[in-house]
Amino acid sequence: MRVCVVGTGYVGLTTGVSLAFLGHDVTCVDLDQAKVDLLAGGRSPIYEPHMDALLADSAERMTFTTDYSIAVPDADVVFIAVQTPSLPDGNPDLKYLRSAAESVGKHISGEFTVVINKSTVPIGSSNWVDSILRESFERTHERRSDGEFSVASNPEFLRQGAAIQDTLYPDRIVVGSDNPRSLDVLNRLYREILNQTFTPPTYLPRPGELGAVPMVSTDLASAELIKYAANAFLALKISFANEIGQLAGKVGADISQVTRGIGLDTRIGPRFLQPGIGWGGSCFGKDTAALIATAADYHHSMPIVTAAREVNQLQRRLVVDRLLDELRILKGRRIGLLGLAFKPNTDDMRDAPALDIARMLIDRGARVRLHDPVAAERFRREQPDLVPHLADEVEDVFDDSDAVVLVTEWSQYLDLDWAKLASLMRTPVILDGRHCLDPQRLTKLGYRYLSLTGR
Ligand code: NAD
Repeated sequence: MRVCVVGTGYVGLTTGVSLAFLGHDVTCVDLDQAKVDLLAGGRSPIYEPHMDALLADSAERMTFTTDYSIAVPDADVVFIAVQTPSLPDGNPDLKYLRSAAESVGKHISGEFTVVINKSTVPIGSSNWVDSILRESFERTHERRSDGEFSVASNPEFLRQGAAIQDTLYPDRIVVGSDNPRSLDVLNRLYREILNQTFTPPTYLPRPGELGAVPMVSTDLASAELIKYAANAFLALKISFANEIGQLAGKVGADISQVTRGIGLDTRIGPRFLQPGIGWGGSCFGKDTAALIATAADYHHSMPIVTAAREVNQLQRRLVVDRLLDELRILKGRRIGLLGLAFKPNTDDMRDAPALDIARMLIDRGARVRLHDPVAAERFRREQPDLVPHLADEVEDVFDDSDAVVLVTEWSQYLDLDWAKLASLMRTPVILDGRHCLDPQRLTKLGYRYLSLTGR
């Protein structure tokens, strides 16, 4: 099929490159000329495992452009995957979506195009996108639209750091539509994924246990709500682990054993129960805020989701409190942070805990050193005020420091030469913000090991 993808960020690029790998002809359109130039040269503007290899494998079926008139007119399917960041009141900013929909509407000319909204949007947005497309189409073509297009909702569930894996081997595909013809198009588009009939890339084999992928086909509002509800549930699972973690610290229980003990119950499951600094990234904070804002429009409150957000903020402040308890004075102390990306295997720092924590420490007069094995280059562009704190080498974070905090559990950090690094520190205090280091081993090496739960 001929596919157009609007927006070549984490979601759009992954969708485009995966569909091209499966044999579809894909044109990606983005307003950012620098991104398009990089991609046209075969290079990914984002760090995502296997992205470069898949881009190379799919290159002959992919085109990158800033020009909608190249991308839209012949497409059977147009995905919109632009950003929907939070506004101060919690509602998502839909200006990128509006502008993308206007541009798509202007250029639709095929017999029947399915316009698929992949951005995470409030309930009712598909209808809104439909009306923008229609107005834009009618203004440009100077006639009423007559069934040339239909809007579907196809929320995205990929995890950054495993984006391609999640796209080729998803748990489910959710499609919201009130048009049987669109459903048929989407079924054909995703057939190879739904039936798992494609030959997997050598570098990303199919997980052994995966059978056919369920397609959940719903009305538009349900598809939109599924996305928000899924993210809110995952967010509150993390916050629940952190809330129990605080209690575990107080009563002298080991939260790692507690979460293992509850996670083995198949009704609960072990994933997203890791205690620590909590979630970050572009989705959980934004989507929980949007869900609460949507509920408020209906005079409905969401106390559980609200509490999950509060617990998450608390975890960031706890890092500072824990250091304060240990060092007594933060002014003039040299404190290193390991990890800037909001989680391992991505270079994304949207709502990254490290940035909040660094700023809180700097506000208290600490001398902060920051390191990340992958995100440093992007950090220089996006966080100019914090660049003077950036360390080139991981040793610089430890050198003469009073404490080091592990913020992002990059595998590179787990394998550091911890014995040598302890000898560089003024006082070898390590705060394991992700409960991923071995307390016994570090204590033997002379560290004072701290966690957010007091064990
Ligand atoms: P992103 O910021 O990485 O990418 C968005 C891209 O869209 C950018 O390259 C931008 O230049 C481009 N763009 C903006 N307006 C445009 C326009 N009018 N025309 C063409 N291009 C335009 O965003 P993302 O992280 O990929 O997220 C996209 C959407 O998917 C959001 O709604 C997000 O909530 C949702 N989502 C994200 C994830 C994730 O893990 N990142 C997962 C699931 C869903």
